[in-house]
Amino acid sequence: MQTQEQISPKSNYDAVIVGGGSAGVAAAIACAREGLETLLLVRGSELGVNLSQDLVHSISGLYLISNDVVPHPANGGLALEFTERLLKTEAAMGPVRMNRVDVLLQQPRLFSLQCSRLCGKEKTLTVMLDSTLRAVWTDAGVIESVEIDAHPEPIRAAVFVDASCDAILSYLAGADYEETELRELQRPTYIFSIGGVAMDANDEPSRLLFSRKIVEGISNGSLDPQFAVAVMRPSCLPEEVRLNIDLESEGDHYSPLNPECLTRLQIQCCQLASQLETYLRATIPGFENCLVKGSPGQTMARDSRRVEGRYRLTEKDILDGVEFEDAVCRSAWPIELRDTVRGQKSHAPKKSKPCDIPLRALISKDFDNLLMAGRCISASHRAQGALRVIGTCLAVGQAAGLAAATIKRSPTGKILPGDEGVAAAPIREKILSDINR
Ligand SMILES: Cc1cc2nc3c(=O)[nH]c(=O)nc-3n(C[C@H](O)[C@H](O)[C@H](O)COP(=O)(O)OP(=O)(O)OC[C@H]3O[C@@H](n4cnc5c(N)ncnc54)[C@H](O)[C@@H]3O)c2cc1C
Repeated sequence: MQTQEQISPKSNYDAVIVGGGSAGVAAAIACAREGLETLLLVRGSELGVNLSQDLVHSISGLYLISNDVVPHPANGGLALEFTERLLKTEAAMGPVRMNRVDVLLQQPRLFSLQCSRLCGKEKTLTVMLDSTLRAVWTDAGVIESVEIDAHPEPIRAAVFVDASCDAILSYLAGADYEETELRELQRPTYIFSIGGVAMDANDEPSRLLFSRKIVEGISNGSLDPQFAVAVMRPSCLPEEVRLNIDLESEGDHYSPLNPECLTRLQIQCCQLASQLETYLRATIPGFENCLVKGSPGQTMARDSRRVEGRYRLTEKDILDGVEFEDAVCRSAWPIELRDTVRGQKSHAPKKSKPCDIPLRALISKDFDNLLMAGRCISASHRAQGALRVIGTCLAVGQAAGLAAATIKRSPTGKILPGDEGVAAAPIREKILSDINR
């Protein structure tokens, strides 16, 4: 029989990935497929996070922005593999055209299942759920080990990937990072699904009726004024619609890194959902039996810390569709800003050209063995407004995983500054060769 000590986690890995969202899962799979002994640490009890928590109904950034009838993938590799798997297993439907962009409508729980299935296939990958990072040890510009709450021993690795959305690994290591000023910060959004609805959210007259009733409800005091920005969207499940509300978020007191503030918002959101359910049941035909399903947790924040890398992507890069010598994958989504409660402002790249994501934006400027993936990569606030979408996170995650393998194999234990172009070429090849560039 094994003792508890024998079944506790190993204390040495080739790569440790912190964060099991789209970026972390892609990074972990990519590392493991390169043969690295990989550990994926996840704070919650599920892989996929934003996608699995009934929060995000569509996967954006998988396709190039275009007027063509047939959408073209923006990246190959794992982003394409996920797309094909989700469609094949009916976990997603689409692509669905929304103006000039294409998205997949997905079922959150099934996305999580696909993440678990893919991770489960990798022999050299260990996934540890419910494992919150609590300390990081560094020495002379290198991260040496991390510690999680469930396991008091340091866990060592040659390379670390920060895919924790809030850049907690980089923060605890003492790496430089930037945060957005409060006046520009993306407002949190409450997204929830409502089941038991006998109304088609794609039907224009139904949507107009819904909007008119919301306005009436606000003016007669039945509904909170925050519903003024509520948008009803279709779901890929029958008898279900999705609701998005950009929140006022306590005026100037909103902080995406303050658990107290996030908890207050969550409680407020549950009250809003309950108020809406009662109102819809009583006032709109087709909603008589409606029921609010699911409620997101702290994941309603869109941006927090971004780690300073060897290159910082800017709004101009995204809008100009810049090409880089050390490109590893591509961003193909408009810059979306929600810095006011009056809804989203969108800025599409000129001529719809995708922007290259350079390897340097994934390498911390302070630690040679620290890579970033997902929404915390090195970028300005406005550039992040395009880069944070899930399709791009999957591609960036894979690129970070492949870069981790390069660092592990390198005799110097790093990618030397100036060598990023050479290091990026095989990574780019793996991510983009299966689509027509
Ligand atoms: C309201 C809202 C709506 C959105 N709508 C869309 C949309 O329609 N389409 C789209 O493509 N994108 C959408 N996005 C953006 C997208 O969901 C996120 O930007 C993307 O999921 C970020 O992926 P990630 O892997 O970087 O982080 P996440 O998916 O947030 O994953 C972060 C991971 O880090 C883990 N973690 C955090 N701290 C620790 C710690 N201390 N220890 C261990 N693990 C830790 C978390 O548990 C989690 O597993 C939306 C975002 C929000 C908030």
